[in-house]
Amino acid sequence: MSDTFDVAIVGGGVVGAAIARELSRYDLKVVLLEKAADVARGTSGKNSGVVHTGINVPTGSVKAKLNVAGAEMFEDLCADLDVPFKRCGKTIVALSEAELPDLESLMARGVANGVRDLEIIDSATLKRMEPNIEGAAALNVPTAAIVCPYSLNIALAESVIENGAEIRLNSPVTAISGTEGSFELTTPGGIISAGLIVNSAGLFSDKVARMTGVHRWRIWPCRGEYLILDKSKGHLINGMVYPVPPKGGAGLGIHITPTTDGNILLGPSADYTNDAEDVRTTGKIRRQLLTEAAEFLPQLSPRDVITAYSGMRPKLVPSKVGGFGDFVIEEVEEAPGVMQLVGIESPGLTASPAIAEQVSAWVRDKIPAQGKADFVSKRTSIPRLRDEPLELREARIQKDGDYGEIVCRCEMVTRKEITESIKNGLGATSLNAIKYRSRATMGRCQGGFCGPRVVDLLIEAGHPPESLTLNGGESWLFMGTTEDLRAERKAERTGAK
Ligand SMILES: Cc1cc2nc3c(=O)[nH]c(=O)nc-3n(C[C@H](O)[C@H](O)[C@H](O)COP(=O)(O)OP(=O)(O)OC[C@H]3O[C@@H](n4cnc5c(N)ncnc54)[C@H](O)[C@@H]3O)c2cc1C
Repeated sequence: MSDTFDVAIVGGGVVGAAIARELSRYDLKVVLLEKAADVARGTSGKNSGVVHTGINVPTGSVKAKLNVAGAEMFEDLCADLDVPFKRCGKTIVALSEAELPDLESLMARGVANGVRDLEIIDSATLKRMEPNIEGAAALNVPTAAIVCPYSLNIALAESVIENGAEIRLNSPVTAISGTEGSFELTTPGGIISAGLIVNSAGLFSDKVARMTGVHRWRIWPCRGEYLILDKSKGHLINGMVYPVPPKGGAGLGIHITPTTDGNILLGPSADYTNDAEDVRTTGKIRRQLLTEAAEFLPQLSPRDVITAYSGMRPKLVPSKVGGFGDFVIEEVEEAPGVMQLVGIESPGLTASPAIAEQVSAWVRDKIPAQGKADFVSKRTSIPRLRDEPLELREARIQKDGDYGEIVCRCEMVTRKEITESIKNGLGATSLNAIKYRSRATMGRCQGGFCGPRVVDLLIEAGHPPESLTLNGGESWLFMGTTEDLRAERKAERTGAK
């Protein structure tokens, strides 16, 4: 493997992966370095999955421009990459008449930002659209859409590999030296040389910027917790239901969002923290989310919750200052040859295809490159038995018996889908890597039934038990054999150790 590249991208979130894919259209040598054991393990795997239209961001901002441009590209991108996408629309609901002026100013901003088909609807129209939602009026945003965010990140990464660029997992960049044309990035696997660098390290982009000699930014992590509701409640809403955004708040307020798989998300909260990796979920926020969501959707019950997760916003503005912080997408004078992407919080998922085009243009301005005639834009995901009509399922099972064995009962995931996930081109083998590719362990029982069976399939595929982790790193699934542990305990008791 050569370790000299035209471009090194630091960070394998949706933004880094979208940039790598865009660059893989050209005859450039590109490497993406990701510190985790898989892509989509940062903020890109833990958000609302909303393709925002651009009504929430100030007119004229970088966010507004890239949000609107990215949203326009999303449907085609998802079709090319075979990623779940649904234009389900969104209503921003005023709980009382007093919030009507807020809806009007949101609508005015949306119109100024170029968002189409906005209208304010009365409570009767809202009831027809969303029979279970309580509200005095709403702003109807029919062009808003949802996507499966981690599937998109994984699909982008697979497309990158298919098109000849490299992705190196478990590769944290710990130091950067050199200048434009001859940078050196230190990773545990060795030194990577690159002419240009793209800093797309999300929550750690300020630290990577410091490695390049740029000290102007600091990221203020702000945690957003979510609850996931059982699919049996998916029918309660038809599209996304948002509140009027809290004034001066760090987010858009607790919203009720369908997922492309038929669950409902409640969240996110907004709590600043000092630790970007502190993605805990708490009982306090669980109660808060259920209480706030119940104002719109009174039928909700705590029993509907199957699990919780949290994502971290990489804010550029500290909580005591508050307010708006724009995306930073700049090559700054202290570090020529480095594109710094800092503060890529929401709507970063939506903006990712547009950010990728902008960064690709910057690279090609510096390194003239030819488009590849053999670039493959289409990618096909593993066929899912549960998504197919009954009459096609039988034919698929006849063709391949592994489709006839259901391993995850809650999500109806077959043995075939899991073994195909294990063979992924990125070489990601943690239990979570298989979960995010197949959905096994994501259902009501959260892996109680299928978790051990997925482990068996990993072992069957040649991965020794002692190598298996939940999420890479040292999150080992097994501590040793029972015999080893017994011997160790005995040695402790007898003082032989
Ligand atoms: C609660 C919440 C809800 C959101 N909802 C939405 C939404 O509905 N719609 C929307 O458009 N946006 C949403 N966003 C924003 C969106 O998720 C982010 O803007 C987007 O995921 C950012 O992607 P990224 O690639 O920049 O960062 P990340 O996904 O964080 O990726 C950065 C990667 O860099 C890696 N890395 C860090 N340091 C190093 C290093 N030294 N070496 C190698 N790798 C490194 C990390 O491991 C990580 O994988 C939301 C965000 C949050 C927190």
